[in-house]
Amino acid sequence: KAKASGRNQFRLFDEDMATEAHQKLAMESELRRAVQEQEFCLFLQPQIQLKTRKLAGFEALIRWRHPEKGMVFPDQFIPQLENSEHIVPVGYWTIEHSMEIIKALEHEGYPGLKIAVNLTSHQFDDKKLPKFISDCLAKYELKAEQIELELTENTLIGDMSEVMSQMQELRDLGVSIAIDDFGTGYSSLEYLRRLPVDILKIDRSFVMELDTDETDRQLVETIIAMASNLRIHVVAEGIEKHEHIEFLAENNCEFGQGYYICRPVDEQKLLISLNQQLVNGRWLG
Ligand code: C2E
Ligand code: MG
Ligand code: MG
Ligand code: MG
Repeated sequence: KAKASGRNQFRLFDEDMATEAHQKLAMESELRRAVQEQEFCLFLQPQIQLKTRKLAGFEALIRWRHPEKGMVFPDQFIPQLENSEHIVPVGYWTIEHSMEIIKALEHEGYPGLKIAVNLTSHQFDDKKLPKFISDCLAKYELKAEQIELELTENTLIGDMSEVMSQMQELRDLGVSIAIDDFGTGYSSLEYLRRLPVDILKIDRSFVMELDTDETDRQLVETIIAMASNLRIHVVAEGIEKHEHIEFLAENNCEFGQGYYICRPVDEQKLLISLNQQLVNGRWLG
């Protein structure tokens, strides 16, 4: 009996592996189609200056409009893209299209806004990235200061001298470097010590419970003070309540984003949303 069930288990395991391999192949071919058919789009989440409520710019967040599954979120496909050759063209598209959106807004009477673009390791490591960005800046006639590149601590693992030289090349163009999800990695301080960082984005897990958790309040206060001493800008992410905004503004956190201010907006609805929610450049609500 033991033998029979053992064999059974073995077969189950085998089938699981086959299913997994099959799913992986299917995903790979769907992603290839998505790239070819341009099924990706961007959502934009406003970032505001917390004291004045002035709109500073947006974070660009990719979505996949899947013909059968509907809207697919980046956590469901960015890791797979990162393991394929498609991440580089999709990344280029994201950077260029983000700039296109910011330029279009200038024509609609919203000049000088910033756009923050997320990058994976492969995109960041790409030797052609600085040239691509400077070509796009010229094409869309944008100032380099309008562009922020968001890297996570995971992106920065690897050869430190390579990371440094790539970062320096990007900063020489005038674009800003932000550390995303700050505080969730293992050696956050090591990065601040060694790398030329312009912006810290406090991870939303620290922001979510600011209204109830004293430890989180103290940690966030400390991160803001540290960044200020280092002349690094701070963006708080995941602001979901009025109390969060109040606490962050009182503690001199410069910028913030989150559902309480505005959910990410479909690029097609961005202008309508701005016209409704902005008065004299200040965010309502
Ligand atoms: P992230 O860069 O940390 O982006 C913030 C995520 O938090 C977004 O999820 C956003 O929709 C969500 N968010 C914003 N405000 C709130 C809030 O108040 N509460 C909560 N609970 N969530 C909030 P999203 O769009 O699903 O993106 C997930 C992650 O996927 C991003 O995390 C980023 O790491 C990655 N990602 C998004 N777009 C791109 C892209 O174009 N390229 C690359 N390489 N990665 C991307
Ligand atoms: Mg981000
Ligand atoms: Mg983040
Ligand atoms: Mg994240």
